[in-house]
Amino acid sequence: MNISHVIAGLTAILGVDGVTADPERMAAYLNEPRKRFHVPAVAVARPGSVAEVQALCRWANENRVPLIPQGGNTGLVGAQVPVRGDEVIVSLQRLDKVREVNAAGGHMTLEAGVILQHAHEVAEAAGAMFPLWIASQGSARIGGVLSSNAGGVQVLAFGNARELCLGVEAVLADGRLYQGLNALKKDNTGYDLKDLLIGAEGTLGIITAATLKLFPKPQAHETALCSVAGPEQALELFYLMRERTGSRLTAFELMPRFGIDLQLKHGMLARDPTAGPSPWYALIEVNRMRGGISGALEAGLEEALERGIITDANVAQAETERAQMWAAREQMSDVQSREGASIKHDISVPVAAVPRLIAEGSAAVERVIPGIRPCPFGHLGDGNIHFNFTQPAGADAKAFMARETDVNAAIYEIIGRLGGSVSAEHGIGQLKTALLTKVKDPIALEMMRAVKLALDPNGILNPGKLLG
Ligand SMILES: Cc1cc2nc3c(=O)[nH]c(=O)nc-3n(C[C@H](O)[C@H](O)[C@H](O)COP(=O)(O)OP(=O)(O)OC[C@H]3O[C@@H](n4cnc5c(N)ncnc54)[C@H](O)[C@@H]3O)c2cc1C
Repeated sequence: MNISHVIAGLTAILGVDGVTADPERMAAYLNEPRKRFHVPAVAVARPGSVAEVQALCRWANENRVPLIPQGGNTGLVGAQVPVRGDEVIVSLQRLDKVREVNAAGGHMTLEAGVILQHAHEVAEAAGAMFPLWIASQGSARIGGVLSSNAGGVQVLAFGNARELCLGVEAVLADGRLYQGLNALKKDNTGYDLKDLLIGAEGTLGIITAATLKLFPKPQAHETALCSVAGPEQALELFYLMRERTGSRLTAFELMPRFGIDLQLKHGMLARDPTAGPSPWYALIEVNRMRGGISGALEAGLEEALERGIITDANVAQAETERAQMWAAREQMSDVQSREGASIKHDISVPVAAVPRLIAEGSAAVERVIPGIRPCPFGHLGDGNIHFNFTQPAGADAKAFMARETDVNAAIYEIIGRLGGSVSAEHGIGQLKTALLTKVKDPIALEMMRAVKLALDPNGILNPGKLLG
């Protein structure tokens, strides 16, 4: 179908206001955070109701027009932007209604276009908490968060997006509506179709709404930034704090001094939030519920200090201090772009293998590019490290990036040996499709392809992504 026929078809379903092919207006839907993918789209479609999404899919399926579902366009693997140039982006932004909030019952039902930050506010206004925190929460939307099975800093206690979702409503490739919204904690009636759609990166259906879990709001947070000699000590601290605080331990993040120094150098931190220079830090947060006993964090830290696991710690005394500690963590990735080019990996290994991953990975990559500056940080408590490397000081950025494949190979070899995953939370998208076919179990790939073929036989939903 040629471009003018596609636009005429879309306009017939959505009206002139629901479609744009103007390059300037499409830019916001095409410019993705990593600035790696630059293929244009034919148009952006903006359905305003579930019925319009259904009509759009029915028409696209009949006419073999490829569709890319899109939420907040914050994905980091190019799953939400074109790979071929003949795709229509389907923005779910207009489906942004809050359908139901039941704080006492522990659930809320939101449409796919609700911004994650708004979901937090809705939960909070009802006296509850929706515990999925990611740095992009001001833009990421519920449909995108579920389709990429987002993680973030509280997975340790509450799980990733998949574990926070009770049911979804989704439009299938041929326009049929899967009505899977429910608030059931237990439902043993066969295959878990919700879990297929979550993390599918828009390749199996377009999520239009979801029922999400709500939790009681904590009364307070106890937060500390601890100085540790290395990842080994950080792991020991994690084990200790988990034992002392159990499920109240909501975050355990690892950061290297290098990343703090960069933030100070580039003016991203007003002051150093740490207790002083140390090669590594662990950012720990423990929730306190109403009537709960305070001081569990400090008691654990005292023991850690006595046993020589930590060398020092800053415990946040006010919300502003807590915010500064979290800013230092959230800005870790961003600051690297201010320092030059960087090569990034979102990977996971069993928690106990994190120190080996960091030691062996840093050494292996140093052999590939002498002088490269490792900046591994992230969710130690989940075994998920953002293993990033900044270019050697003063190096040529282009020449550095030309070695990306060699650096990746060194890291993925270690991941394979340690029984890890090449994508912990950001997904596959178009960035890692070729890699997935190399590292995933062949039977698993066959099963995934069979599911795709059954639900989208004409391959109109996000072609070229995930399975390629
Ligand atoms: C600064 C920053 C920090 C980040 N931090 C984290 C983090 O800590 N943890 C983490 O996991 N991720 C993180 N991310 C990645 C990103 O924010 C998440 O993947 C987020 O969940 C994507 O949501 P989105 O609405 O922007 O989705 P998009 O980017 O629009 O889309 C992502 C995927 O979902 C699909 N999709 C979107 N909407 C739908 C729908 N309604 N139905 C079906 N498919 C759909 C798209 O086709 C695409 O495959 C970060 C990104 C940035 C820029």
